[in-house]
Amino acid sequence: LFIVFEGGDGAGKSTQVARLEQALTEEGYDVISTREPGGTDIGEKLRGLVLEHGQGIIDARTEALIYAASRSAHAEQKIRPALAAGKIVLCDRYIDSSAAYQGAGRNLGTENITQLSLWATQNLLPDLTVFIDVPLDAGRQRTDSRGAADRLESEPDEFHTLVHQTFGELASSGGENYAIVDGTGSIDEVHGQILRAVQRVLKE
Ligand code: C5P
Repeated sequence: LFIVFEGGDGAGKSTQVARLEQALTEEGYDVISTREPGGTDIGEKLRGLVLEHGQGIIDARTEALIYAASRSAHAEQKIRPALAAGKIVLCDRYIDSSAAYQGAGRNLGTENITQLSLWATQNLLPDLTVFIDVPLDAGRQRTDSRGAADRLESEPDEFHTLVHQTFGELASSGGENYAIVDGTGSIDEVHGQILRAVQRVLKE
């Protein structure tokens, strides 16, 4: 079972991935959690390359291809083997992040960028994508408090509004394979919503 977490910067994805991993492990499932960009040795190097050079400084197509390369390695080397071994794979960001940031934010087109990722991963799609929906201001407050130097600092509000809107559109048009979770509550409240969505999929 392949579960992806999506949402803007400061949505709480990494916290929720850790909480869900703990909860599912306690229930006896074999779980791994991973993230993008990154997840493999080569992927972490590619992540470093993009973040170090400053996003928005690397031209948009190069950035999109680096994310796609990172995802290709991740799907091939880590996600597919784990799924084949019967594990539950939790992944912090995946194809929709590229559609939102590179496709919409950097104006390369969400459809093109999604196709690029489908090629890169040989059509490896999640069984469930959890979109943690947090308004821009709330996300900004959270990243301020963790002092992260991420895209919230380097891009204008319009960029992030477009990114957030795109995540929302992908989730609301994605049907059964998506769960939209209100991410403004406490960690426990958000975790509860996510657990309900995951349990639904586990029963299928
Ligand atoms: O999710 P995480 O905080 O690890 O992402 C690192 C940075 O990369 C964030 O600023 C995020 O907005 C950005 N990012 C991006 N395009 C992606 C994935 C992440 O711009 N496809």
